Amino acid sequence: MYGKMQQHLQAELKAIEDAGLYKKEQIIVTPQRAEIKVQSGQQVLNFCANNYLGLSDHPRLVAAAKKALDERGYGISSVRFICGTQDYHKELEKTISDFFKTEDTILYSSCFDANGGIFEPLFTEEDAIISDALNHASIIDGVRLCKAKRYRYDNADMAELEERLKEAQEQRYRIIVTDGVFSMDGNVAPLDQIMYLAEKYDALVMVDESHSAGVVGKTGRGVTEQFNLMGKVDVITGTLGKAFGGAIGGFTTGRKEIIDMLRQRSRPYLFSNSIPPMVAAAGIEAFHLLIESNHLQDKLHENVDYFVVKMKEAKFDIKPTQSAICAVMLYDAKLSQEFAANLLEEGIYVTGFYYPVVPKEQARIRVQLSAGHNREHLDKAIAAFIKVGNKLGII
Ligand SMILES: *Cc1c(COP(=O)(O)O)cnc(C)c1O
Repeated sequence: MYGKMQQHLQAELKAIEDAGLYKKEQIIVTPQRAEIKVQSGQQVLNFCANNYLGLSDHPRLVAAAKKALDERGYGISSVRFICGTQDYHKELEKTISDFFKTEDTILYSSCFDANGGIFEPLFTEEDAIISDALNHASIIDGVRLCKAKRYRYDNADMAELEERLKEAQEQRYRIIVTDGVFSMDGNVAPLDQIMYLAEKYDALVMVDESHSAGVVGKTGRGVTEQFNLMGKVDVITGTLGKAFGGAIGGFTTGRKEIIDMLRQRSRPYLFSNSIPPMVAAAGIEAFHLLIESNHLQDKLHENVDYFVVKMKEAKFDIKPTQSAICAVMLYDAKLSQEFAANLLEEGIYVTGFYYPVVPKEQARIRVQLSAGHNREHLDKAIAAFIKVGNKLGII
């Protein structure tokens, strides 16, 4: 039997490779941080991690994880509602609720699961889900698992959102769903206008803060902080896999009854293992770090501002960013790959993105800044961009 399928897969894989879309993995042999070493032995500066606050190898997180590892062992071997809930899980949920000024929080193994498990328990064919066209794949999959009527609006297009809301007035409940920060352009969802329309057309609002929590807003509380809407959004989802230490884990936080219903009915919560105590303990420590001091936030924002100004001075075409994502536009797929390869030779590790990850003719290098970068790292990256930009005739 496998012979036929094998041939098919081989042909398909070759087509992926011929189209230049085959994903190869860079092997890294150090902790995740600004300065990393790859398997070839080359030292590079990392500008493509979601390690926005530099917490992935932070001593306080490592110590908190080690302490919990010693005290509670390695794994939990249970789902939450059987024998998989420890005090660490409850404390992390409480800490997240306090951080976002929400009523309650439920943990998942990932934000992918949080988004996969939110819609089906709450909405039926009587309801409507109205989703931004650029929302994360996990939101798209979560919506697919639910029978609610689906509507889509162009990225951050408020006129279209209003049309969809009008079309959805017959449905019982409506929910508008958006990423907080969109991962390819680094733009922020216009949450003030979304909330205005939600009020006008009687809809709930859900924001996925995965790329924005820890990053956007003066103290890193995300887009609800930026728009002065903390505590007003019905549902927030987020990840512990980016700014908050980067290990694993996700959460849904918001209205009390919604969270309670998810604990009863959300399938990735009911049928999947609890996160290890060491991950919960380090997660608590990550939030405590941010609550104690705004130092990392301030440094991240300073780094983004510095990088963007210098890159613009060097005449690079930079998408206006409102986050720690900085898109350096090249508009040509092949060029984006060549540019990234040249930067790697200069010791700067970034990723070039092109269709279908971004629209055709919108190829780019995506730079992700971090509080873990110092001025010297930034200057080296900028100098390398300028050198390669001149060599390839971009600037
Ligand atoms: C990264 C990301 C996720 C997935 O988070 P994991 O915890 O890694 O599963 C979900 N939504 C958005 C918007 C993301 O950027």
